[in-house]
Amino acid sequence: MHAKKCGRLEVIAGPMFSGKTTELIRLLEREEYAGKTTVMFKPEVDNRYHERNVVTHKGASHEALVVSSGGRGLGQIEKLGKGFEVVGIDEAQFFRNGKELIRIADSLADMGKTVIVSLLNRSHLGEPFGDAPEMIARADYVRMLTAVCRKCGNDATFTQRVDQNGREIFGKLVEVEGKDSYEPRCRDCFVKPR
Ligand SMILES: [Zn+2]
Repeated sequence: MHAKKCGRLEVIAGPMFSGKTTELIRLLEREEYAGKTTVMFKPEVDNRYHERNVVTHKGASHEALVVSSGGRGLGQIEKLGKGFEVVGIDEAQFFRNGKELIRIADSLADMGKTVIVSLLNRSHLGEPFGDAPEMIARADYVRMLTAVCRKCGNDATFTQRVDQNGREIFGKLVEVEGKDSYEPRCRDCFVKPR
């Protein structure tokens, strides 16, 4: 027996509006209360609320380092992440090289760090989102969150893209969470592309 604490890779997954960022902030704050040093990264593709702070739909916020969604940003996560005990990564699906992000998250966890990644697991077409399946498979802990179906109020695990009139549209992949043109849907109410 030895007391050395293991690192871990945790994933927070779910559809839009399921509170993934709120949960990530909650977990980071919990580690901070325990005296751990934390850092939170987010890709710069999503800067609709604030440059430095990650703000959720409900108004919770946490300081974050905004990094590019390309190779430079990933390099910063790898380099700066080493200096903290807990590393949070928000909206991970927006990093362009998901495989490289997975390698970095895995290696930080191997160093003994707690790495917590939030990501959208499905696209608005109902399909696995990019490298999310592999990130989930490599995680030690997975939290799968649900939203509330906009149509019927049941647990929503899908994200539907809709036009102004609420009709389903099937275009390119979702890029920015929080637009009016996306809504959470349950398995029953979700409409698959034809
Ligand atoms: Zn429904």
